[in-house]
Amino acid sequence: MTHVPSTTHALVFQGPGQAPAIEELGLEPPGPGEVRVRMVASGVCHSDLHMVDGDWERPAGVVMGHEGTAIVEELGSGVGAGAETGVEPGARAPGLGVGDLVVLAWTAPCGACPACGRGEAWLCAAPLGADHRLAPELARLHRPDGTPVGAYSGIGTFATHQVVAAGAAITIDPRTPPEVAALIGCAASTGVGAVRNTAAVRPADSVVVLGLGGVGLSALMAAVAAGASPIIGVDLEPSKRELALELGATRSVEPDSALRVVRVVRELTGGGADHVLECIGRTSTAELALDLARPGGTITLVGMTPQGERAGVDVYRFVEDGKRLLGSNYGSSVPARDFPVIAADVLAGRLPLGRLVEERIGLEDVVGALDAMRRRQGLRRVVVF
Ligand code: NAD
Ligand code: ZN
Repeated sequence: MTHVPSTTHALVFQGPGQAPAIEELGLEPPGPGEVRVRMVASGVCHSDLHMVDGDWERPAGVVMGHEGTAIVEELGSGVGAGAETGVEPGARAPGLGVGDLVVLAWTAPCGACPACGRGEAWLCAAPLGADHRLAPELARLHRPDGTPVGAYSGIGTFATHQVVAAGAAITIDPRTPPEVAALIGCAASTGVGAVRNTAAVRPADSVVVLGLGGVGLSALMAAVAAGASPIIGVDLEPSKRELALELGATRSVEPDSALRVVRVVRELTGGGADHVLECIGRTSTAELALDLARPGGTITLVGMTPQGERAGVDVYRFVEDGKRLLGSNYGSSVPARDFPVIAADVLAGRLPLGRLVEERIGLEDVVGALDAMRRRQGLRRVVVF
């Protein structure tokens, strides 16, 4: 019989501007519609940095991390083959079994709200494990004094073990390398999905990707796989521009001045790109993105600014040029549909997402990884448990 741990080592958010800290927490067994997982790998995403830097309002006392892959260790009631009762429709996950390699979804659709009814899982109004599972009846983690501790977006992947909604655990091909599987939980789905689902890039479309981090390079790889051309990558960091070229970009551009970027893009695309994807999260580059699209072209905003910031639009030009502006949340992904496809694309060599893994680190190295990200140094650092 396998040892069933009743504790987890986890990186807990202590509030904005403070370093997150590793704590040992008690872990309850999975309830109805839930599973306990052993985490295998978890990537550090810029959204973690937004949280720590106080760009976004998030509650303290929550296990951080939302880009992870895990092995299922224990099924709660109502989960698995033949189990159909007692849990919400989205939480049944009848195919799930002990030992499965799963990618954890930070929006696990309820399956019952109007958005889920429209097939728009990423806009689910009542995702499973909502509000970071901080409510006492939802929390499965506790400090030694009994205080409930939440799990970011219901999954809190910077933890050795976790209890999550079964509907958040998406089975993928077990041959997928764990560090890469982790990225499917956020950066890869966000970038690949922005190209495939939100923007719906077609072969021979011209594409500009602003920001060549985990999300932007995932988008760039999907654009290459889609047969887009030309593909232009823009980033401040020379090493990232270099990698973009290796991955199949036609050209990479240093954004030393907005005017120069506009000139280069217009030259290469004959007047502006069919698609521009902003994968940085700055109002200035969102505004630049509007100028880089051709008349009738599509701008897809993927990067996220601090809450409440607004960008300016030259409304007259935007309307006259008939451009289209889209927001892309989680790559407009339906996790159960899209995660296994991305894993298959990795295994078939169509999406070389392994190139994004900069370094394998321990849980104690996440704070340093966030600092490196703040300085724009390197790509994905992935905690391997
Ligand atoms: P990252 O830090 O890995 O990448 C950002 C890249 O932008 C870096 O390569 C950096 O060098 C570059 N950059 C920064 N300032 C720049 C500038 N002025 N001009 C050109 N390049 C610049 O971050 P990431 O993890 O890839 O995330 C990117 C953004 O996407 C973040 O805002 C993150 O919160 C957001 N995000 C959105 C979703 C979603 O659902 N829409 C999901 C995940 C992440
Ligand atoms: Zn993320």
